[in-house]
Amino acid sequence: MTLSTDFERVSLPLADPFGISRGTTEAAENVLVRVQDGDGNVGVGAAAPSEYYGETPDSVATALPDLLVAVEEVDDPHAQQRIARALHERAPEAASACGAVSVAVHDLAARQQGEPLYRRWGLDPAAAPATSFTIGIDTPERMGEKAASAREAGYPILKVKLGTEDDRARIGSIREAAPEARIRVDANTAWTPAEAIEHTSWLADHGVEFVEQPVPADDIDGLRRVSEEGSLPVAADESCVTAEDVPRVADAVDIVVVKVDKCGGLRAAARQIAAADAHGLETMFGCMVASNAGMAGACHLAPLVDYADLDGALLLADDPYDGVPMPEGRLALTAVGAGTGARPR
Ligand SMILES: [Mg+2]
Repeated sequence: MTLSTDFERVSLPLADPFGISRGTTEAAENVLVRVQDGDGNVGVGAAAPSEYYGETPDSVATALPDLLVAVEEVDDPHAQQRIARALHERAPEAASACGAVSVAVHDLAARQQGEPLYRRWGLDPAAAPATSFTIGIDTPERMGEKAASAREAGYPILKVKLGTEDDRARIGSIREAAPEARIRVDANTAWTPAEAIEHTSWLADHGVEFVEQPVPADDIDGLRRVSEEGSLPVAADESCVTAEDVPRVADAVDIVVVKVDKCGGLRAAARQIAAADAHGLETMFGCMVASNAGMAGACHLAPLVDYADLDGALLLADDPYDGVPMPEGRLALTAVGAGTGARPR
């Protein structure tokens, strides 16, 4: 078959600076991965490394050559079990690098078969939940404006980043600007359990559906307290990185957030979803801020989850790749001809 591979670091400016409780970014530092066969079929993926999880563009660029050699040695994009094992063995700490390679290999295999990736997994495209559109932390006024434009663009669900000195004003401004929107909140570990319990009370009054990662990642007892004493369902994101973390959070939360850049690949993501299912938890497929080159892979597993937060590419000013179309937040998987649907613009 003779596969060839390469990768490229890219800095993708955001449409708006993106704030979460830990800081603000103005560009997404991604690493694009390509895997090509002898017939000219190209599979693409993208890593969106996060320092929070111990990865940087430098560390991804350091890990990738060895990972791509492993893919070339296997030399068959359909041998996905072998490839996943080889990637994990060579760089168990480099989840986003492994994830990018995983997406590229799945894209190539599906392209060779002339099928969209979701069909290779036997999934029902109609079961994919609509994605939320994320409003990063900004002034209350600006967050209201962003919510209004997201609604004007047709997105029915907003995910709101909180964890500021005045979260109440921010959610109030958003609710006023988008009275009909479904709203979810992500505090990215910013609150204490006591704060979170108090906040969920007025968040519930504003019709918020659930709260993601209210307390620090290692505070599983805190998550449990917020679930038991607070007024909203709780999702674990930073507290649940891979399938192995699911049992630890299973009696503390209601929802597990799965991301390719956290768990290290599409097979690992499916495994984490299955583990959450087995514990009776709901699941949300999330993402980092990333090019469609990476995002498109995750979209094809969305039929397995209850909620989708796959708007990473929607936040970019100028993505070099097209991906799965998302009219009004709907993941239009049936519009994909072959592979993940990620193609250079
Ligand atoms: Mg999150």
